[in-house]
Amino acid sequence: MKIAVVGTGYVGLVAGACFAESGNDVICIDKDQAKVQTLNDGRMPIYEPGLEELVRRNRQEGRLSFTTDLPAAVREALIVFIAVGTPQGEDGSADLSHVLGVAREVGRAMNGYKVIVDKSTVPVGTSNKVRDVVSQETRHEFSVVSNPEFLKQGAAIEDFMKPDRVVIGAEDQKARDIMLELYEPFTRTGAPIMVMDCASAELAKYAANAMLATRISFMNEVANVCELVGADVDQVRKAVGSDRRIGTSFLFPGVGYGGSCFPKDVQAMMRFASDQNYDFKILQAVETVNTCQKTRLFAKMQQHFGDMKGKTVAVWGLAFKPKTDDMREAPSIPLLRALLDAGATVQAYDPEATKIARGIFGDRVDYTSTNYDALKDADCLAIVTEWNEFRRPDFTRMKSLMREPIIFDGRNLFTPEQMKQNGFVYYSIGRS
Ligand code: NAD
Repeated sequence: MKIAVVGTGYVGLVAGACFAESGNDVICIDKDQAKVQTLNDGRMPIYEPGLEELVRRNRQEGRLSFTTDLPAAVREALIVFIAVGTPQGEDGSADLSHVLGVAREVGRAMNGYKVIVDKSTVPVGTSNKVRDVVSQETRHEFSVVSNPEFLKQGAAIEDFMKPDRVVIGAEDQKARDIMLELYEPFTRTGAPIMVMDCASAELAKYAANAMLATRISFMNEVANVCELVGADVDQVRKAVGSDRRIGTSFLFPGVGYGGSCFPKDVQAMMRFASDQNYDFKILQAVETVNTCQKTRLFAKMQQHFGDMKGKTVAVWGLAFKPKTDDMREAPSIPLLRALLDAGATVQAYDPEATKIARGIFGDRVDYTSTNYDALKDADCLAIVTEWNEFRRPDFTRMKSLMREPIIFDGRNLFTPEQMKQNGFVYYSIGRS
């Protein structure tokens, strides 16, 4: 099948590469010339495990190409995916200007029947808006489909290739059949393709992200209560998660959720509910809890040291989660800001996100090339992202590098017993 994917970010680039891998002819379009140039030079604009190899192979085999020329790509394609950003607008609602701007360009470029698929996360009713915009620009027949994406950064290719489910919102049979054919190779393992109306498909994506964010905030509150009453959140988590109605995933407390999706999607869902005069009270609490949780590691440091002025703090992890370079809404950002504002020196290490961090903090932070370098003469270590390479460090080496063996672990990578044995003063989340 001939496919155009507009937007070569985390979603568009992965989707494009995976559709090419399953034998389709894919042209990826981005308005960012530098990004397209990088891709045409064989380099990756983002870090995602396995992506470089997948893109290289499919380019070599002639199934995947990159361009800034949207009209030419649309003319070639039967299916046009819109996978551009839907950032948070000033009032919290999803900013649809990129999606509708692309829809207009697609409408203008049409030379025959197309399936226009919205893959971006968009509020209920957006498929109607896309339909309106496109029909203002063309007399050709077209269908609008809502196909929200559920991939996780850091495991995006695996998620796309072997999804838990594929959700397709489609109002006509022709588009439905084309989408079912397109996704058939990805659902051979038995994952369901769920075909529904566009409004339900659009809402399903927000409801899924809002539920996951709710679990995180809920467990963060449980952890905070554990600290107050002397319980151990690890034990509580295991006991709670073993109930099959609840399940074990997404029950890990930490320093709050971040990334490009949960914060903005929680906001947008509250916003479109309130547009219908519905007050989504739980989500308001979810967000408030998350904002507070992002301050807890710094509060623990202040409690220990009193004043952070003149302290040197090593930070392990800057990305909002492991296996990505993405720092959008990362909990590391408010922590680093608080430390710098308090007059501390920050020595930070992240395997992938240093370049992006430099764009945010410039030279105010000292970026190191290994996690051990960050510990040199540090008064303490803050662990913010649970990269695998942080899980089994050489504790003796750590102690020899640090001025004081103190760890503030925002991801509960170690156990309090283990740290006591190794001679560290150890603060974590939800455990005394
Ligand atoms: P992103 O910011 O990484 O990428 C968006 C890309 O679209 C950018 O490269 C940008 O240059 C390009 N773009 C913007 N306007 C354009 C235009 N007019 N023409 C061509 N290109 C244009 O975004 P992302 O993280 O890939 O997210 C895209 C959408 O998918 C969002 O709605 C997001 O909520 C949703 N989503 C994201 C994830 C995720 O993990 N990142 C997961 C599921 C869904």
